Amino acid sequence: THFGFKTVAESDKATKVADVFHSVAQRYDVMNDLMSVGLHRAWKRFTVETSGVRPGNRVLDVAGGTADLTRLFLKKVGSSGQVWLTDINSSMLSVGRDRMLDEGQAVPVAQCDGEKLPFPDNYFDCVSVAFGLRNMTHKDLALADMYRVLRPGGRLLVLEFSKIWKPLAPLYDAYSFKLLPFMGKLVAKDVDSYQYLAESIRMHPGQEELKAMMEHAGFAKVDYYNLSGGVVALHKGYKF
Ligand code: SAM
Repeated sequence: THFGFKTVAESDKATKVADVFHSVAQRYDVMNDLMSVGLHRAWKRFTVETSGVRPGNRVLDVAGGTADLTRLFLKKVGSSGQVWLTDINSSMLSVGRDRMLDEGQAVPVAQCDGEKLPFPDNYFDCVSVAFGLRNMTHKDLALADMYRVLRPGGRLLVLEFSKIWKPLAPLYDAYSFKLLPFMGKLVAKDVDSYQYLAESIRMHPGQEELKAMMEHAGFAKVDYYNLSGGVVALHKGYKF
């Protein structure tokens, strides 16, 4: 931003991201299973298992989309706890909310930007963001605001595409730049969205870079786990 105004590139990105997720919302879950050959389910289970979330905790799922993490967290916090499903995109949120209701679960839902969270300071025991940070225009602002809403001792979990183990890179490039847009075209009838996906994955910071960004936002004891050879990494950091 310059003097508080968004640059063209910045508002372009937000608009592009909004278009992508309005467009894919209805087919999002099927495409996730297909494109990750079901692996995203294991990555998400690992995230929630690693979170240390206990009964009675308050959890905030940022960019929660169709509620995959939300529903796993809900099992951990029990009836005395609270899990907020939030996302900037109304189409993704309504798919997520409907899915929870179909399963007989009601969670508090809020449409909000991960860069400007409408929650008080020091409120949550855990904040999660899965495959969401990549889409945010100002990742530094988002990380700072997630820090703000965490209570001291609380933790942030960032599940995101990362830098794959070098020897696997050519294979992965072929997959993400050839096969992925092809599947996007075939199944979702939406080449552009899956082109964006491949590009945004490539642009996203690697393991060490994201770790440094979290430390810069104030997080302590930041560490990460490489999942599936670094296709994805889970970063964890604490507010003290
Ligand atoms: N967390 C879900 C999952 O793991 O399946 C959804 C991930 S989906 C790839 C990315 C989500 O990020 C979309 O639902 C999108 O609307 C949301 N998103 C993009 N920019 C955002 C922002 N600035 N604040 C909050 N959510 C955002």
